[in-house]
Amino acid sequence: MNDNRSGENNLKRGLNFIEAIVEEDLKEGKNGNRVHTRFPPEPNGYLHIGHAKAICLDFGIAERYGGKCNLRFDDTNPIKEETEYIESIREDIHWLGYDWEKREYYASDYFGQLYNFAVDLIRKGLAYVDDQSSDLIAEQKGTPTVPGIESPYRSRPAEENLSLFEKMNSGAFPEGSRVLRAKIDMASPNMHMRDPIIYRIIKHPHHRTGNRWHVYPMYDFAHGQCDYFEGITHSLCTLEFEVHRPLYNWFIDQLQTDDYRPRQIEFNRLNLNYTVLSKRKLLELVKEGKVNGWDDPRMPTLCGLRRRGYTPESIRNFVASIGYTKVEAINDVSLLEFAIREDLNKRAPRVMAVLNPLKVILTNYPEGKTEELETINNPEDESMGVRTIPFSKEIYIERDDFMEDPPKKYFRLAPGREVRLKSAYIIKCVDYKTDEQGNILEVYCTYDETTRSGGPDADRKVKGTLHWVSVLHALEAEIRLYDRLYSDPDPSGHRGKDPKTFLNPDSLKIITGYVEPGLKNSKPLDHFQFQRVGYFNLDPDSTPGRLIFNRTVPLRDTWSRGQASGT
Ligand code: ATP
Ligand code: MG
Repeated sequence: MNDNRSGENNLKRGLNFIEAIVEEDLKEGKNGNRVHTRFPPEPNGYLHIGHAKAICLDFGIAERYGGKCNLRFDDTNPIKEETEYIESIREDIHWLGYDWEKREYYASDYFGQLYNFAVDLIRKGLAYVDDQSSDLIAEQKGTPTVPGIESPYRSRPAEENLSLFEKMNSGAFPEGSRVLRAKIDMASPNMHMRDPIIYRIIKHPHHRTGNRWHVYPMYDFAHGQCDYFEGITHSLCTLEFEVHRPLYNWFIDQLQTDDYRPRQIEFNRLNLNYTVLSKRKLLELVKEGKVNGWDDPRMPTLCGLRRRGYTPESIRNFVASIGYTKVEAINDVSLLEFAIREDLNKRAPRVMAVLNPLKVILTNYPEGKTEELETINNPEDESMGVRTIPFSKEIYIERDDFMEDPPKKYFRLAPGREVRLKSAYIIKCVDYKTDEQGNILEVYCTYDETTRSGGPDADRKVKGTLHWVSVLHALEAEIRLYDRLYSDPDPSGHRGKDPKTFLNPDSLKIITGYVEPGLKNSKPLDHFQFQRVGYFNLDPDSTPGRLIFNRTVPLRDTWSRGQASGT
């Protein structure tokens, strides 16, 4: 009853289950009322949108409860880790809007403490050196229903273990020849408790400690203890670590000197349809040239999303909208696209760009005349002001905004019909020209001078309004139309099939379009709404002589209506 009521109360206050636990702990005065979390990436790749879910939680909880959040690089495996990744991780967390101040730590900061702890366990008879191969050790682990087999080295005397472990570390033995194992329980129903390997020999130099160590702790032996060394109060991680928790607790039992211990709480991972979220698989895409690097705008990495035109706010809003639970689920990528549309609707100026041009000639417009017409930057936000765009006798409209023989409900341009040119005049189609195959080459219209803004017929209504650019003034631009990287909703969900089998062959289409001239002053990553087309941003590779725009998202969700999102 009581539980139920506090549950309802938490929901009302918008608390997720983790925040509710943290508040309970604070109410009970645990850990001297400290809240201290950490975000622990392994620097073996770039961060992706799944990591954003963890980052928003780790930093968000600290923010909400006046606590701290550490950045800790989990660099226990010297083979896969690189400083390039460390730098990108820092940049991406800052970009998302979070800061760890001076608290940047590395699992390798604790190699000494972890080594001493391992020596301690050996002395207490709680760890031993096993000379068997890792294959054999794996075989002896048993299955969840069949207990494991004890290693013949399990009862080695502590002195012998100590001397062997020291020799492992001094480089006396080859990789793979021996490991250090915790001595727990080979019959435990929890497989992780069956004498897990805690140290292995690796002779590859470490990016921070060089050749100082020849033994390296396993992730499971480092993670919980690093939390403990840093005074972490709430160690938040994804659900797959739930079964590791008893092991982490067992290590902390051996270390603990007072009441303090980190509390691990697991939550559901972020999974997205049409997307792969695994650093290993993303690295394959980069290495095999399936994409143009980690920051390719089709990648679900934070740097890829940034280059695509996603804002940190949109990612945080998306993460908040899906929430944190104990149940694994696959989220619809259209929710992410919804979040960026909603954000850019507020902040992106509306501009004119024609992606598939058709020339319209205004037969009654004076030759050589140019006008500067005023237009508002964003109807959602008047503070964004106004600008002018040049108008002249020849303009481009979108090819599919004209039809020779339109159906009844077509309200765009057609012979004899009128449309308004956005922020300009009403025009009427009087003629058009085709080639021998019947392709439309040019359209001829008259314009009505009285319909100009401020003119007597400025308010005259017609059914269609088209975007346009002046042929004389428009700038040519390379337009990169990105689409989903995979055409299958669950690319990793096919047994025995590489997700790369399901790459969408049309995930990038490059075309040449025309944009209004003011865009030559835009800066890398500036956002725009190309009116009636979609959201775009200026690619960082753009130069004044070669403008490049990336499509962030089309204006509407065309996928959910079962169509490919074309231009
Ligand atoms: P990957 O499978 O992509 O390699 P990882 O879990 O191995 O991811 P880490 O660098 O170890 O990557 O992750 C750092 C933190 O981010 C961990 O606490 C992890 O639980 C969390 N994390 C990773 N992927 C996701 C995800 N998809 N959703 C939520 N949190 C995630
Ligand atoms: Mg990991």
